[in-house]
Amino acid sequence: MESTLKRTWAETDLDALVHNYRTLRERVGKDVKFLGVVKADAYGHGAIEVSKVLEKEGADYLAVSSIDEAMELRLNDIKMPILILGHTPKEQVGRLIEYDITQAVTCKSKAVEYSEEAVKLGKPLKIHIKVDTGMSRLGFLVEDDHFETGVEGIAEAVNYPMLDAEGIFTHFAVSDEPGEECKAYTEHQFKLFTDVIKGVESKTGRRFKIRHCANTGAVANYLDMCLDMVRPGLLLYGYGEFAEKLGLKPVMTLKSVVSTVKIYPKGTKISYGGIFETSDTTRIGVIPYGYADGFLRCLSNKCSLYTEEGFAPQRGKICMDMCMIDLTGKPGVDVGSEIEIFGNHNSLNELAALAGTIPYEITCAVSKRVPRTYIKDGKVIGKELMLRM
Ligand SMILES: *Cc1c(COP(=O)(O)O)cnc(C)c1O
Repeated sequence: MESTLKRTWAETDLDALVHNYRTLRERVGKDVKFLGVVKADAYGHGAIEVSKVLEKEGADYLAVSSIDEAMELRLNDIKMPILILGHTPKEQVGRLIEYDITQAVTCKSKAVEYSEEAVKLGKPLKIHIKVDTGMSRLGFLVEDDHFETGVEGIAEAVNYPMLDAEGIFTHFAVSDEPGEECKAYTEHQFKLFTDVIKGVESKTGRRFKIRHCANTGAVANYLDMCLDMVRPGLLLYGYGEFAEKLGLKPVMTLKSVVSTVKIYPKGTKISYGGIFETSDTTRIGVIPYGYADGFLRCLSNKCSLYTEEGFAPQRGKICMDMCMIDLTGKPGVDVGSEIEIFGNHNSLNELAALAGTIPYEITCAVSKRVPRTYIKDGKVIGKELMLRM
């Protein structure tokens, strides 16, 4: 590791990613296509490297949130199909077509706009229709009274000129939540989705090639809902209770070093606000990992970081650029010692629970100041500084 990287850095374990992909692939069966969700820089893991691995492993599709994210992949030589799940302004239709990017179409007016642009260019735009079956976010409304108009609207949209409706999808709201109520809700969403598909297909007389709805929760809990393609994100990265149950491995390890060690007498207040006061002579280490690196400030004085001599409680308020940990009784941990913020020893799931959030938020929060390193066969095969040099 170059010294410039040895501040705080994220290790993306590509072997763990391959393991997770293959495990999930096997779980859903060979007849089901696999879309890897790599939006938000692959949940902070590095979208380019993650996508390269998925492409090499034979995944069928990638999904991102915006055209910029899709372009990042295309300009870095990712050739496989990419679906944009979110908003793309109609002015970008030319680029979508030029770079062979598939766009989600979330309502009729979007279909109209996209079709008009594609007609002007004289080239078809590949789309997947998004259906709102109960997430109440994006997608054609089809619930209750909206069923007939929804089906009609989708049937019209797929027939607009220069729209090539390859797929149709919906998103589950509570497939990852326990309890009968959530199960019923998910089953209702699924039934509504398949009813809509039936309705549209009988109206148009054509079939959607790729019908998909299974996110992490569904791949874990509702294997009968895979349809033509699954669409997991979190499971691929190996976090959450289901990942543990399925034997998946956490892909990211976030590491830092001890930058300073000092011994304070009893009664010393540590960091902003003085919320922590030493109750005895205390050996404090300063870690160059703060909220600007992605350490959620709400974890202040609540969590522990892992050292080679065990867990060290974090003390006082987390600052922008650093935080303090208690190294009392850990004489072997000194300036330059490596610290695991989360990874195989310090569970991200537990850290997220302590913060009252989900693992997604913590890996997505790892900021661009934190360089990424990529591990394959146990060796560092790549390093990425995210700052504009
Ligand atoms: C983010 C996202 C996913 C992946 O969700 P996970 O819970 O990480 O599996 C799937 N589908 C859509 C539409 C998404 O926005």
